[in-house]
Amino acid sequence: MQLQDQSLFRQQAYIDGAWLDADSGQTISVNNPATGETLGTVPKMGGAETRRAIEAAERALPAWRALTAKERSARLRKWFELMLENQEDLARLMTCEQGKPLAESRGEIAYAASFLEWFAEEGKRIYGDTIPGHMADKRLIVIKQPIGVTAAITPWNFPAAMITRKAGPALAAGCTMVVKPASQTPYSALALAELAERAGIPAGVFSVVTGSAAAVGGELTGNPIVRKLSFTGSTDVGRQLMAECAKDIKKVSLELGGNAPFIVFDDADLDAAVEGALISKYRNNGQTCVCANRLYVQDAVYEAFVEKLQAAIARLKIGNGLDDGITTGPLIDAKAVTKVQEHIADATAKGAKVVSGGKPHALGGTFFEPTILVDVPKNALVAKDETFGPLAPLFRFKDEAEVIQMANDTEFGLASYFYAKDLSRVFRVAEALEYGMVGINTGLMSNEVAPFGGVKASGLGREGSKYGIEDYVEIKYLCLSI
Ligand code: ADP
Repeated sequence: MQLQDQSLFRQQAYIDGAWLDADSGQTISVNNPATGETLGTVPKMGGAETRRAIEAAERALPAWRALTAKERSARLRKWFELMLENQEDLARLMTCEQGKPLAESRGEIAYAASFLEWFAEEGKRIYGDTIPGHMADKRLIVIKQPIGVTAAITPWNFPAAMITRKAGPALAAGCTMVVKPASQTPYSALALAELAERAGIPAGVFSVVTGSAAAVGGELTGNPIVRKLSFTGSTDVGRQLMAECAKDIKKVSLELGGNAPFIVFDDADLDAAVEGALISKYRNNGQTCVCANRLYVQDAVYEAFVEKLQAAIARLKIGNGLDDGITTGPLIDAKAVTKVQEHIADATAKGAKVVSGGKPHALGGTFFEPTILVDVPKNALVAKDETFGPLAPLFRFKDEAEVIQMANDTEFGLASYFYAKDLSRVFRVAEALEYGMVGINTGLMSNEVAPFGGVKASGLGREGSKYGIEDYVEIKYLCLSI
């Protein structure tokens, strides 16, 4: 992989300020999903190396916690600036290991860096309270303190942002952190560690351990030094990690699966709704947990919407994300392709029709045609299960009550979207949707200043915004008798 600054391409793990191989010498190879080529390897570490990273985080904690918020902020700010200075290299690295087009990778680097900037600032505002006493001689005070040593397990779909969205608030609050990145996309994580070191983040404050998910994850959840785990990934794995964390009553933040409804009412601006659907459904090739998974379109505008969406996806250019003008890369792996195919086969067997795409792309590998299914019945698998691919299933609905019932009929509750103009309807629907986030007349709502997170089986806690740092502090109550 050719970068302007070749030292951002690290093939060793970063523990306690040192670049290391696995004790066993074993490695995992990392592939480019667009070409199938091997990019390199990373150490296949396990419990022992993870324990050392955790112990280093514990040793580093007192000095890091003792810095003023302003001192920690200066280093996070520097880390943010270094990410932007190296945006091009970081984007290239990400496209090579993840497959998303360069423009999206550049966007993710800016988005990822924004969490460091934001929390560098928010870290200075971890205010407590003074509470009017319940007795004349009592003074009650609330202070907030860092939780301590924290751990993060992150997915491959946003290889940089899912790390900074956790490490930003953790480090700003005075916590230390050990990260296990997804094995498909470790290089973005290791490049972040290189930049953290250059930014003056001390050894042990931020470590990145690559390797076996079960062994590294098992140590992160099983080691009592770790006081908190933040995880982004599938609901099944999240449930398992939460159960493992129950032993020590560790705090957990979980950003899990979604099954986002995208509703188009008959008073919507249809062109805007199509643009919103395009970005919400096909961004990152449908591989985000906030991607529209089920598109509900009201009877009167159904045909018109289908036609416009077909025209819109015809503009997508599929290919290697490093090439000019590409809007859509490959899927992450063969398993992802199989899932899209299963959802299509199930829906069509139950009466749905393919009107665009529907099969693997002529480019081969894990490329897949952007697909639209119409007349999808309510009992299709895709109504319940997250596709995580470029498949837009269109359901028809008659009225508001029916669509709200269908939209909420899922165990998930992360993102939801709807397009409408009637102001009363806008409020009614926004309040009725059982989701942590509602996009109204927009298909894109993630940013560092707003609280990202879900309800129901989509998770616990919020990331970003002024709320995000709350997940990394403990409340302590002081009762003073005078
Ligand atoms: P995805 O479907 O996005 O790959 P996963 O939940 O499988 O979601 O993976 C998200 C992250 O969780 C990855 O870093 C992966 O390595 C890690 N992971 C998967 N299984 C386990 C496990 N049993 N214990 C700890 N981490 C795991």
